[in-house]
Amino acid sequence: MPRIARVVVRLPLNRVFDYLVPPELEELAAPGTPVTVPFGRTVQTGYIVELADRSERTDLKQILSVAGRPAMIRGALMDLARWMADYYIAPVETAVHTVLPAAVRHGGARTLSRLKVVWVQDPPPEEEARLRRRAPKRFALLLELRAAHGEEWLSHLEHRVRGAAAAARALEKRGWVRIEAAERRRDPEARAPLVRSEPLPLMPQQARALETIRRAIDTGQPPVTLLFGVTGSGKTEVYLQAIAHALSRGRGAIVLVPEISLTPQTVERFRSRFGDVVAVLHSHLSDGERHDEWHRVHAGRARIVVGARSALFAPVHHLGLIVVDEEHEPTYKQEETPRYHARDVAVMRGHLERCAVVLGSATPSLESWRNALAGKYALVRMPDRVDHRRMPVVRIVDMRAETARTGRRSVFSRALAQEIGERLRRGEQTILFLNRRGYATSLLCPRCGHVVRCDHCSVAMVYHRRREQVVCHLCGAARPVPDRCPVPECRDPAIRQGGAGTERIESILAKMFPQARVARMDSDTMTRKEDYRRVLGEFRLGRLDILVGTQMIAKGLDFPNVTLVGVVQADMALHLPDFRAEERTFQLLVQVAGRAGRGDVAGEVIVQTYTPFNPAIQAARRLDWETFYDQELAARKEMGYPPFSHLVECTVRGADETAVAVAAQSLARRLRCALGAAAEVGDAAPAPIARIRGLHRWRVSMRIPVLVSVTDRLRNAWRSFEWPDGVEGAIDVDAVSLL
Ligand code: ADP
Ligand code: ZN
Repeated sequence: MPRIARVVVRLPLNRVFDYLVPPELEELAAPGTPVTVPFGRTVQTGYIVELADRSERTDLKQILSVAGRPAMIRGALMDLARWMADYYIAPVETAVHTVLPAAVRHGGARTLSRLKVVWVQDPPPEEEARLRRRAPKRFALLLELRAAHGEEWLSHLEHRVRGAAAAARALEKRGWVRIEAAERRRDPEARAPLVRSEPLPLMPQQARALETIRRAIDTGQPPVTLLFGVTGSGKTEVYLQAIAHALSRGRGAIVLVPEISLTPQTVERFRSRFGDVVAVLHSHLSDGERHDEWHRVHAGRARIVVGARSALFAPVHHLGLIVVDEEHEPTYKQEETPRYHARDVAVMRGHLERCAVVLGSATPSLESWRNALAGKYALVRMPDRVDHRRMPVVRIVDMRAETARTGRRSVFSRALAQEIGERLRRGEQTILFLNRRGYATSLLCPRCGHVVRCDHCSVAMVYHRRREQVVCHLCGAARPVPDRCPVPECRDPAIRQGGAGTERIESILAKMFPQARVARMDSDTMTRKEDYRRVLGEFRLGRLDILVGTQMIAKGLDFPNVTLVGVVQADMALHLPDFRAEERTFQLLVQVAGRAGRGDVAGEVIVQTYTPFNPAIQAARRLDWETFYDQELAARKEMGYPPFSHLVECTVRGADETAVAVAAQSLARRLRCALGAAAEVGDAAPAPIARIRGLHRWRVSMRIPVLVSVTDRLRNAWRSFEWPDGVEGAIDVDAVSLL
C-alpha cells in the first residue's frame, strides 16, 4: 500500500498537498516532520501534517528529503493545528506555525557562542541554476538552509554538507547568506532564588476540588472542570497538588495564565514546588530563551509548562492536565490569524490527548458559566477564602455627588483620600487602580470641546506628560502636545487633560501625601521585565506605600499588607460599544477588589464611579455573582448574543471607503445567501473604530447558534469571496474584541 504524506508548504496557499513517501524515508516520515518536496519547478520545505494511504490524485510526486529532526511536533498537536485552521477559518500553514514557534522552526539545538548561517535573499534563478550545475556544495547548502527555514547552525550544516563553512563564506560574499555568532543560552529565571515549598494541608473546599481533578486525570472524567473559586480561595494550591498528582502518574501539565499575571511571583510558586522540571514560556523571552525552553519540553526534561496563551502548544509528553487560570480573561484570544481562543483550544487539546482540563476563575466567563450550568463542564466551587479570611468590604463612592460638593471634577473623593491617609498612618499599603495609562486620557479643549485625535485612526490620542507628547494607542503615532487648541476659530491655550491617567494620579498623590512612597506600574514604566520584579519586590518588602497601576496590577498579586484598594474611575470600560462591557467591568472590579485583605487585617475597597447604580458595579459591590450572571444570561439570551450563539466578525478594510463599503455589503449578501436560516447576518456597517492606520474599516457581524453545523458553508463562502483590488478582509470566529 502506498504511503501518502499530506504536506503543508511554507507558502501562503492555505492548502495541504499530497506526496508519496519513498520507502527509505518511511521510518522518518511522521506527522510533524519537516520535509523538502518538489513544488512546481521549485523545491519547497514544509511539514507533514498527516499520513494517509490513499489520495484523490494519481500523479503524485515523492518527498525529496526529511529536512530536520523528525517529528518536531507530534501527531496530536498537528491534529490540533488542523482543527484550528478549520474552526477559525485560518490558513493551515499559519495554524501549523502557531503550534511550532518561529524560534524553534528556525534553529537547531543552540549551545554557547557558535556560528549560525542566516539566509539573506534568494539568488536570482539563473544564478541558482548555475550553482546547481557548477557548485553542488553551495547549492546543497542553500537547500539545507531553506529546509531549516532560513537559519541553521554551521556545525549542523557541516554534518550534512562537507565543506559547508567554505561554501557558506562563498555565498556570503555574494550577499545571499550571512554568518553570525549566536548569543549565549539564557535561562529566563536564572536569577530567581529557589526555596523549596511543600504541599499545604488543604481546606475541605480545596480537597474536594483536588479530588475531582485527580479523578479527571486518572479516568478522563469529567473532561473539563470549571473551578469557580473566589480570589484568595486557594486555587493555585489546588493546581499545584493536581500537577503533583499528574507527575506521580508519569504525566505532564500545562498551566496557562494571562500574560499580565505571568509575574515572577506566579512563576516562583511553581518553580519552588517543582524546581527545574518547570519551563516558562511567554512573549518576553528572547528567541534563544524560547528555543531552549521549548526544547527542554520537547526532550522531556521539563514536564510542566507555565506560560501565556501560546504555551498551550508546548510539546509536553504524555500530557495529563491543562489548567487555564483566569479563564475569563480576554487576552486568551489571539488577535491575529489564527484568531484562536486559548481556553477553547485547551478544551480541544484536552479532548484530543485525553487529558484533564481545568478552567479556573473567580469571575468565570459567561460562556464557561453556561457550560457548567448545562452540565457540559463539571462545576467545583470554592466560595470561601483560605483560613476564612474575610472578603473585602466594597464601598461605592458617587463621584457626581463629589463634583456637586466641591464644584469641580476631582480625581480623589474625600473618602478615598481619607482612607489612603489612614493607611499611611497605620503603615499599611494601598493599591490604586486605573483602567488606562498615560497622564490623562485625552487632550480636551475646555472652550470648544475639541479632542486631539489621531490622523490615521479614529480615536482620541492620549496625553503623556513625561514625554510631552500625545500618543495614539492604536498605531503608536506620537506628536508634541499642541500649545493651543488646533481649531482655527478657537486657538485656546487652555487645552488640557480631560480625565486622569496613572501618571497624573502619581503626581497628585505626591502633592497630597508628600511623605508617601509611590510607584507606578503600567506598560509605560514597565518596559523591562526586571522593572516589574524590582517594583513588586520593593512593594512586598514594605519599601513602598502605594502602588498605582493599570490592569497590570489587577490580578495575581498577593500582598498581605495591602488593606486598601482604590478604583479611581470604575466606569471607564462601561462605555465601550461592546455587549461584554458590563461583564468586563464586573470581572475587573472583583479581581481588583481581590487584591485587598489577603493578610490578617480585613481589606477595604473603594470604587469611585459616575454611574453608581449600574448593575455591574452594584453586583461587584455585593460580590453577588449569581444575580449578576442570571441577569446577564437573560439579557444575552434575549439578544441572541454569546454564549447563546457564536459571534463571527468580518472586518473589511481598505484605503478607499466606497470600495470598502461596497465590498462589505456584497460580503453580507453572500454570507446571508450561504448560511440561510442558520445564521443571523447583520448589515454591513462601519466598525466602531472606523479607521486605523489610514485604512477604513467596515464590519459584517454574524450570530450563529450552532456553529459546527455551518462551518463548512461559512468557510467556503469566505474563501471563495472575491475581494476587489485594494480591499481585504479578516474573519474572526468567536470574536472577543468588537472594536
Ligand atoms: P487564589 O489562586 O484562589 O487567589 P491562592 O492559591 O493564591 O488563591 O491562595 C491564597 C493564599 O492562601 C496564598 O498565600 C496561599 O499560599 C495560601 N493558601 C492556599 N491554600 C492554603 C492552605 N490549604 N492552607 C494555608 N494557606 C493556604
Ligand atoms: Zn493612530
